[in-house]
Amino acid sequence: MSPNDSYQDKEDILSKTSIKEYIDKNWSECKKSGSGYKVLCPFHDDKSPSMHINDEKGLYHCFVCKAGGNLVQFIKEFKNLTYPETIEEISNFFNIKIPKRNYKPVGEIGLDKKMFDFNKKISLYFKRCLSDEQANLKPIKYLKSRGFSSQDIEENSLGFAPDSWDSITKMVQDKKELLNIALSLGLIIKKDGKEDFFDFFRNRIIFPIKNRQGNILGFAGRTIGDDKAKYINSKESEIFSKRKVLYGLGNFNKLNGRKPKYIFIVEGYTDVLMMNHFGLYNVVATMGTALTLEHANEIKKISNKVIICYDSDAAGIDSSFKNIDPLFQFGIEIFTLRLEDGLDPCSYLEKFGMDNFIQRAKKSNLIIDEYINYLKDKLIEKDLSINEVVDNFVSKIRFVQDYIQRDEFINKFSSSFSISKRKIESIIDKEFVKSEISSQKHNSNRLLGPEDIILKVFLEFIDSRDIGIMNKCSKIFNNIFHKEIIDIIKINPEAEASGVIGSIEEDATSSMLSDLVFTPFDIPNDRQLRGKLILDCIKRIELDSIKDLKRLINLRLSKDGELTDKDEKELLNELKDLIDREKQLQ
Ligand SMILES: [Zn+2]
Repeated sequence: MSPNDSYQDKEDILSKTSIKEYIDKNWSECKKSGSGYKVLCPFHDDKSPSMHINDEKGLYHCFVCKAGGNLVQFIKEFKNLTYPETIEEISNFFNIKIPKRNYKPVGEIGLDKKMFDFNKKISLYFKRCLSDEQANLKPIKYLKSRGFSSQDIEENSLGFAPDSWDSITKMVQDKKELLNIALSLGLIIKKDGKEDFFDFFRNRIIFPIKNRQGNILGFAGRTIGDDKAKYINSKESEIFSKRKVLYGLGNFNKLNGRKPKYIFIVEGYTDVLMMNHFGLYNVVATMGTALTLEHANEIKKISNKVIICYDSDAAGIDSSFKNIDPLFQFGIEIFTLRLEDGLDPCSYLEKFGMDNFIQRAKKSNLIIDEYINYLKDKLIEKDLSINEVVDNFVSKIRFVQDYIQRDEFINKFSSSFSISKRKIESIIDKEFVKSEISSQKHNSNRLLGPEDIILKVFLEFIDSRDIGIMNKCSKIFNNIFHKEIIDIIKINPEAEASGVIGSIEEDATSSMLSDLVFTPFDIPNDRQLRGKLILDCIKRIELDSIKDLKRLINLRLSKDGELTDKDEKELLNELKDLIDREKQLQ
């Protein structure tokens, strides 16, 4: 997250536009509801309007899927455009002139760029370490044993992180900015409570993880020692999120612009690279997580069909079924490819060659057929009752958007289990009503905590943004996202809520903020009363943290015999101070 220098211009743009008008004309008509509007949410399979629009503030928020933000974010997501394209779209639709200088997206000139550059530099370093063959026979040997040629290693910039605690730390320790970047990318780690650092990747083969543009987002490291964690990844950062990134997308440019008919989803990094080795580039893998909606969204941009090619053991089969929900939600057709003799794709390719593999892939099964067989086994083995079988099936296919396809699946299921089609349909309808009710429950009746309330006041009332109070909040807030938002408001104290939300690059944070704006809470109109509300909330936060500290101390005191007399005395003094402070506050 970084404050946006050009937010003033953005604010100008947003003040000349209407998010309601844009949605009315480009998506679906917004219906009046309370003081704002409601419309079907385009970002999830919405049956009742769940998206709230506040045209005055220029914001949208969906309480079901948590999509939220301002007009720029809406168009970016809705039309899948880059930032400059979005500005162009706004300028055309509302017929307003926007100076060219505003076209530069924050991400390309700011922190992101610096992070990409730094990752690239480190990747080159790891690469050099690997090619320093004298010292590194072991990693090269491992890669060759897995079938990697020198060309594969070169093309995929594979590298090696030496068995050292400080090779990267040394590069950055005297350069404050680089040190901070290395820290936020998780390449170095801070020792507990000290100004000391050490390298995160040690004695590991390094796989750079790239996005479709070829930027390095992070790394995966495979141990060649006896470390228990076989693979580790870069930590989550502004540019790297396991929920979004698919390994393998970085090589899609090798398809030379051809849109693949289908995408293979395989289990791991080496599977992706070995299929690349045989000339198949439409291959991705998640990074040790189940497939998410964000992943499915990425896939949908490229193809409507996937072939899941996981191991044929029970674990592989289970995890392929876990991918059904997000893919069906995006209307993606799913096939599974189980190779003979439990071979993984690369052993199969080595044994039978590429043409044979492609022929085999063309005969993949529809995942729903495999799933029905799986449920049959579960029923026979008495792992599931017939009711549970039906529930499981319904929970999967209720996401299928295409009615003809859904009908076909229901037919298959009803003939396999001799259950009438109407029965299944009535269960689906009931499920549907249930989910609608729960989606209405989502309509924002959550209780706001004291930090939420303070933020909501700061967001919506510019005249309440007292710098002293905001500094205090930065200090006492427990939630780091809340702290970051306070910092953004401190830098842009005149920004409207939509401007603040617009200058946040992280989806999770901006969605949390729009959630806050749309969650009803009576904030007094009188400025003094608002001030009092903030002070009350601050008091609550302080009292809560005193309570936590007291609990901690009492816990330590209760452990008889583990404390020296001196420690005990100190703790009792601390406790007394806390109780005094508590009394003062109350
Ligand atoms: Zn939604």
